[in-house]
Amino acid sequence: MSKLILVSACLVGFNCKYNGGNNRSELIVEAFRRGFVVPVCPEQLGGLPTPRSPAKIKGGDGKDVLSGKGKVLTVDGSFKDVTENFLRGAYETLKAAELLGDRLVACILKEKSPSCGVKKIYEFDTDNLKEGMGVTAALLSEKGFKIISSEDTEIIKKILIRSLNE
Ligand code: SF4
Repeated sequence: MSKLILVSACLVGFNCKYNGGNNRSELIVEAFRRGFVVPVCPEQLGGLPTPRSPAKIKGGDGKDVLSGKGKVLTVDGSFKDVTENFLRGAYETLKAAELLGDRLVACILKEKSPSCGVKKIYEFDTDNLKEGMGVTAALLSEKGFKIISSEDTEIIKKILIRSLNE
């Protein structure tokens, strides 16, 4: 059976982003066309609507949210606590990754997102970036899955070429 890659659904062009848009990547779309991409949007899986209020992690990064030290709040002025939705979405995404089993070679996740960010997320109080992972990226990483930033295009190309040849 061919190998599969789990990806942030917005990279395939699905309009699941908080503002109703997407982060389409032609590389990922081509992989999707060839049938070895499984698109997942943790925030939608967590029960949030689209469009939805943007949110950020307060008190660390995704690892801290998993441990109960950090939380996720909307940053539209209402500061609604959406931690539960972000956790639910992360665990639903983990379920998908586990179901794919040995066929899953990697998870390619959208950089800078409070769910999917692999290396960078936004600071809570500013528009600056800081080192850290989103909630779903932290959970997948903690469970031993290979996670790759959407910005690591050379690594992504190598994985896609390898998957095509398997
Ligand atoms: Fe959904 Fe992740 Fe894309 Fe955000 S970055 S829209 S949570 S798939």
